[in-house]
Amino acid sequence: IFIPLLGLALALYFYSAPENFNEEMLRGKRVIVTGASSGIGEQVAYHLARMEAHLLLTARTEAKLQKVVERCLELGAASARYVSGSMEDTTFPAVVVREAENTWGGLDMLILNHIGYSYFNYFNGDVGQVRKLLETNFLSYVAMTVSALPMLKESEGSIVVVSSVAGKIGSPFAASYSATKFALEGFFSSLRHEFIIDKVNVSITLCILGYINTENAVRAISHVIRSTPAPKEECALEIIRSGALRQRELHYPPGAVGSLLLLRNIAPGSRICCQCLAHQQVFLLDL
Ligand code: NDP
Repeated sequence: IFIPLLGLALALYFYSAPENFNEEMLRGKRVIVTGASSGIGEQVAYHLARMEAHLLLTARTEAKLQKVVERCLELGAASARYVSGSMEDTTFPAVVVREAENTWGGLDMLILNHIGYSYFNYFNGDVGQVRKLLETNFLSYVAMTVSALPMLKESEGSIVVVSSVAGKIGSPFAASYSATKFALEGFFSSLRHEFIIDKVNVSITLCILGYINTENAVRAISHVIRSTPAPKEECALEIIRSGALRQRELHYPPGAVGSLLLLRNIAPGSRICCQCLAHQQVFLLDL
């Protein structure tokens, strides 16, 4: 009993240790943000703009990206531009990174945040849809990382991967989405170990998010989840902060995500009771 308690005490100590984040850490940094046309990615772009970073934003919808870039320039970005395209296209990740290389000749931070559409319901057996989602939500993250790594090694920069509680704990009605997020955890945690062994000074931060009030998330699950979603603006700032501080993992919102993960770690196999409003049923979730 002593060793797990000691582990818990140490974890709590390091969790609450004071951290000296300073917004000036981002001034003049060259940052790519994916999925920046809406939701959390858009808010990340606005915070970075206020912090006077150089920004390269990407998503599919050009009209939205144009507006976000305009707003970023108003907010004080050192520079802001966009490349539009779909991460379903296997050549697109390299196109985005090449744009950064041609414009800046280097890169300090890569924030991988985009996701493709996935339905919230029983898995319908469509393997093609899982494959497509893996391409968008997982393989494009790998491809962006591979293309950006030479520049990030040079700048001793940071990779920030936006994931979810669904990438740590399986839950019903999100099988394909959850698979792509578990894949991110496996890949980037392994890569982090390799960086340490090889003395590559590029940090990898995995952001484990709970329910956040973006338009798409609220539209998809507000009829299922009763709890109030956390604000996307604060979430975006925490993502930047954890990346700048080179943290291994961010849990946001800390209370909700932290307690779920703690329960799973100290009592694996335990069950919690959940209510699915959409399907009018109560089910047990195995941690
Ligand atoms: P949104 O749906 O609001 O934004 C998704 C972004 O990805 C948009 O900019 C969208 O722009 C872009 N996108 C969609 N499809 C593609 C594609 N094929 N190629 C390139 N870009 C694409 O998502 P959120 O802001 O809610 O989520 C952001 C991140 O946070 C995701 O990784 C998500 O898994 C994670 N997260 C969110 C939670 C939440 O409750 N909101 C909870 C847990 C994790 P466009 O349509 O213009 O391409």
